[in-house]
Amino acid sequence: MNSIQSVRENKRLIAYTAAAMYGGGVVINGIESLIPGGPAVSLTPGAAALGAVVLLLTVGPRLPRWGLAPLGPVGALLIAYSQVTTPGPGDGAVLYMWPVLWTAFFFGRRGAVAIVACIGVAHGLAVLSLPADSRFLARWIEVMFSVSIVAAVVQVLVANNDKLLARLVGEARTDKLTGLLNRHGFEEPAAIELAHARREHRSIAAITIDIDYFKRVNDEWGHETGDRVLARLGAVLTAHCREIDVVARVGGEEFVVLLPSSDSADAQEYMQRVRRALAVRDLPGLPAVRVSAGIAATVAPANVEELLERADSALYAAKRGGRDRVVVAEQEALEPALALG
Ligand code: GH3
Ligand code: MG
Ligand code: MG
Repeated sequence: MNSIQSVRENKRLIAYTAAAMYGGGVVINGIESLIPGGPAVSLTPGAAALGAVVLLLTVGPRLPRWGLAPLGPVGALLIAYSQVTTPGPGDGAVLYMWPVLWTAFFFGRRGAVAIVACIGVAHGLAVLSLPADSRFLARWIEVMFSVSIVAAVVQVLVANNDKLLARLVGEARTDKLTGLLNRHGFEEPAAIELAHARREHRSIAAITIDIDYFKRVNDEWGHETGDRVLARLGAVLTAHCREIDVVARVGGEEFVVLLPSSDSADAQEYMQRVRRALAVRDLPGLPAVRVSAGIAATVAPANVEELLERADSALYAAKRGGRDRVVVAEQEALEPALALG
């Protein structure tokens, strides 16, 4: 769920904004009743709105979403009712904008259609019940056009926001240079895969990969070529893995590959393919690079950090052992050793 959606799913926000809306109605009703020389104002809609405010502030956030949704239509009915009971010049119809904005924002397209339809009926009945000299079809048409346009505009804005936010969330999880996930982006799918492995008691393998003497590539070929080397390694890692594997660039020239339903032998095979592909000098202007890798595989891993720590230790051993090699971390003891004797 992205954060604009979570805003719209936030029941506290839904309830409290509705309370503010109904509270506004109470204030308007109160002020209008105090205007000297004005028309006789019915206090019933204000009293009902006050009841809604109290209810919303006390139990509102605990109500289910479907329990909060009718607040839009109820508000529209109260507005229609106040127009019938206080037949003034008819400007009260502007208040329909509140339930339209609120419902269209929090309850999506279906909510928008529902509230516009509800206002259509409520305002239609209100206009019909007005005295003949102010019962104009234009009053209904103007309101319906206005609320429909507002509902549509809210939908467009929300859809645009959602798209923008999805893009930002995607960018925050992606490494621009390689197009792979970055460390932050790796965390979520990794946690999901580990949870699956634990639940199904399946083996999962993690490989940490680091380019050997990468600093020399930068020094001798330039930073730009270094970047191309990184992008190429990312492409090779992706090309040789399965769709369910998770590949990420977690540091400068450090990569991680998570292989669900795989043991250390599968991971070794994968690394063999990767190293073979890297050894082929198929791209002009790019130096052939070597990598060191550490593999850790386990059944029902406790957490991502622990698995990666073991793979990192193996990678460190590969570096110490002379680089350009793959080291497999020792299998964790699944059961504590039996004390003999
Ligand atoms: P080792 O074999 O021990 O891994 O040696 P190394 O030279 O690969 O490792 P070291 O950690 O000394 O250097 C890593 C280099 O990676 C240093 C840094 O300039 C370079 N680097 C980090 N991020 C980027 C990047 O985004 N682009 C480029 N071109 N270079 C980067
Ligand atoms: Mg390196
Ligand atoms: Mg490094």
